[in-house]
Amino acid sequence: MKVLVPVKRVVDAYVKIRVKSDESGVDTQNVKMSMNPFCEIALEEAVRLKEAGKITEVIAVSIGPKQTQETLRQAMAVGADRSIQIEHDGDVEPLAVAKLLKAVIEKESPDIVFLGKQAIDGDFNQTGQILAGLMDWPQATFISEVVVKDDNSLEATREVDGGLETLSLSVPAILTADLRLNEPRYPSLPNIMKAKKKQMDHFTPADLGVDVTPRLEVVKVTEPSKREAGVMVANVDELVDKLKNEAKVI
Ligand code: AMP
Repeated sequence: MKVLVPVKRVVDAYVKIRVKSDESGVDTQNVKMSMNPFCEIALEEAVRLKEAGKITEVIAVSIGPKQTQETLRQAMAVGADRSIQIEHDGDVEPLAVAKLLKAVIEKESPDIVFLGKQAIDGDFNQTGQILAGLMDWPQATFISEVVVKDDNSLEATREVDGGLETLSLSVPAILTADLRLNEPRYPSLPNIMKAKKKQMDHFTPADLGVDVTPRLEVVKVTEPSKREAGVMVANVDELVDKLKNEAKVI
């Protein structure tokens, strides 16, 4: 079984986001960029499945500017066997990402495409679902556990509002990883060195015949309004009084 893991390069989760002064977007100049945390989780699970002998190959794929090569080297240091870079400067919306992934699937014929549930920059939470639609493949989204059965079918546990839901899927299938699936490892120094020699193929959207022209227009991006400082109250009576007479919420 072959697993394709799409990994996105995003502003590091621990960096304080700065909005550009012209409100056209988020400033990414001189900002630490990292692999999207949910992609790290999907990748970790694919690597663990390979280590457990359940799958044979893990291929990482990333769409973005030249620097996505660093993200792919990191993916290979964590354990991906090889990688594919689709180079494009500028925003690529989920539909276009899904179309590019479909083109890669047609070349590589993976059994599982294992995405993150969401990229923390655009917060779309759409790519896996759109890809499942384009491919007409079964999907299990927001998964917190996956088991590859001996007959190569999958059992995936999903985090839903009322608890956990377990689905059985035949492959090929789309999975999207949620936070509690695993804790990703840090790549070791020897593996970082080994990753430098692993294969990375390069394409452009044009090579794959996909038009990535955005369909959405961003009107403006603004910072969330500042929260006012809290007030210490002396006792419950004062709290109830403030909630009743100042905040007027009870
Ligand atoms: P989204 O639908 O944008 O929230 O992203 C969900 C998932 O789709 C991410 O966690 C990635 O696995 C994949 N994905 C989205 N954009 C890209 C990209 N530019 N390159 C590679 N994978 C991507």
